[in-house]
Amino acid sequence: MTDSDPDLPEPNLPDTGEEAAPSAAELEAAGQNSMFGDAPAPEPEPQSTPAAPPAAAPKPTADEPAQPYRVLARKYRPQTFSELIGQEPMVRTLANGIERERLAHAFLMTGVRGVGKTSTARLIAKALNCIGPDGTGGPTIDPCGQCEPCKAIAEGRHIDVIEMDAASNTGVDDVREIIEAVRYAAVSARYKIYIIDEVHMLSRNAFNALLKTLEEPPAHVKFLFATTEVEKLPVTVLSRTQRFDLRRIPASLLASHFAKICEAEGVDADEEALRIVASAAEGSVRDGLSILDQAIAHADLEGGSGVTAQRVRDMLGLADKGAQRAILEHLLSGDAKALLGGIDEQYSLGVEPLALMRALMDFVHKITVAQVSGSEPDAPSEEERSALAGFAERLSAAQLHRLWQLLLKGHEEVRGAPDPLVSLQMSLLRVLHASDMPDPGKLARRIEQMASQPAPAASAPPGHGAGEGAAAPTAPLSAAPIEWSDLVDQIDNTGQMHVAEIMRSRIRVIELASERLVFQQADSFPDDPGPEVRDALFKLTGKRWLVEKGVGPATEKAQPTLREVAEAEAKAARERTLADPLVKATFDAFPNAELIETPPGDDANDEQRSASGARSGGRWN
Ligand SMILES: [Zn+2]
Repeated sequence: MTDSDPDLPEPNLPDTGEEAAPSAAELEAAGQNSMFGDAPAPEPEPQSTPAAPPAAAPKPTADEPAQPYRVLARKYRPQTFSELIGQEPMVRTLANGIERERLAHAFLMTGVRGVGKTSTARLIAKALNCIGPDGTGGPTIDPCGQCEPCKAIAEGRHIDVIEMDAASNTGVDDVREIIEAVRYAAVSARYKIYIIDEVHMLSRNAFNALLKTLEEPPAHVKFLFATTEVEKLPVTVLSRTQRFDLRRIPASLLASHFAKICEAEGVDADEEALRIVASAAEGSVRDGLSILDQAIAHADLEGGSGVTAQRVRDMLGLADKGAQRAILEHLLSGDAKALLGGIDEQYSLGVEPLALMRALMDFVHKITVAQVSGSEPDAPSEEERSALAGFAERLSAAQLHRLWQLLLKGHEEVRGAPDPLVSLQMSLLRVLHASDMPDPGKLARRIEQMASQPAPAASAPPGHGAGEGAAAPTAPLSAAPIEWSDLVDQIDNTGQMHVAEIMRSRIRVIELASERLVFQQADSFPDDPGPEVRDALFKLTGKRWLVEKGVGPATEKAQPTLREVAEAEAKAARERTLADPLVKATFDAFPNAELIETPPGDDANDEQRSASGARSGGRWN
């Protein structure tokens, strides 16, 4: 496909603004014309915006004779530089050149198809040859559109503005004709202007023939070249032209341009639909308008109600992005069943496995870009933008990169697989199992957090309020029931570490009250820990405690020692850790991994202290 612009015979339509609805055949023809570019629109549009007269065009009735339909790309071809969207830098440079009367002899317009290269060339021709409504004006960036040269150029019939399509006139003879004609002055205009489209198609000899003229062109001659493939031009030509790189037009600008045109055409089109059209246009106004033409015709065929996102999607064969986003969501939330369901649904709707993979990668890319730039994700619908923004907030950069890697690998597999659907399922399941793994740093923090969580309430501390005594508790004990672990911590804190250790590891509390401790010895050592504990309690409280071993049925009420509790807790914590999906995922990913516990202190005492400290809520710290 080239940007060629053959001079099509253009019916001279009165500018009534009445456009008949196109028949399918007309549209077909029109759509093809629009792809090849077209002759200039016969009427200059009002200078302001296209929002003016045709807007109110009444719908033609059935008995009205159908007028040839003009495609939007032709109808809304820019007639002034202000209507040329997305090319402001070029227009500014050109305006400066005209103002200071420093104009090159040759201009080169480059850019992808449909960004307005030939439109620009015609606008420049007008700008150079406009004489103003009163016939006295000079070159201007703001051609009047009313004088004879403006009108004639817009209609493609100006005798001194010669358009040539290099795609079909590549030979040296074609160029020779030009060179011959260059010698004669312009017939009626200020400048004789040669517009050569797709100039890179000229043969080498043709370029050489042209070069001589480009080196020393007569003052009344201007060359306007347009090309999609600037790299094919000889340097000798490039160096003798002023070059304008026409930019791809951003989708948002295209969408708002299309919205204005729909308004002017009296067509209902929802915003999302226009964004989809703009995105499919890939920076080309002409391609976008051609799609919009089709979308309007589709909407008319299906009984009105305007151009909707759904219709445009159907027309362009775009899959439903919502369903694909749901698949990404399942992927990230680890819902394998829903994931497979979503894949099946897409497949039954005719979405190719590779295309689905591509769509998921596209999401991840957009999310990543949004996250990095901190701006709104680039997506056609508000719904999609907010969904992608949500992902960008939720996922870490590392997760996104891993997701991309996994999807990329999956993409390769699906592409080469004998059964792409099966390969898609398998690789997405692999992504699912891997993607909920956080990055290693985060993983380490999570495991740390889980390990430091207090034990569940089930393993309540022992010695709780057994046998409430009548006597008032003595300082420093509070009125609250005595906590065995508190008591042990206090003894530990007064420097009687040896006894505290005995109390932690050898005493199973049966009954604990003020000045009374009944216990069971946890070990079978012959020595009785009772006297040492009694002494320690006396030193701590200044009271003589009754400390005795329980016998018979009383021993059944014995609580485990603090050490036994701590060990049980550690075991439970380890089991909790191992049961955590996160850690499970880690072990799935690294089957040879080991869970290594790092006690908070160096020795067992420290560990104990920390365990009991956590349980007592740190009251003594
Ligand atoms: Zn004019």
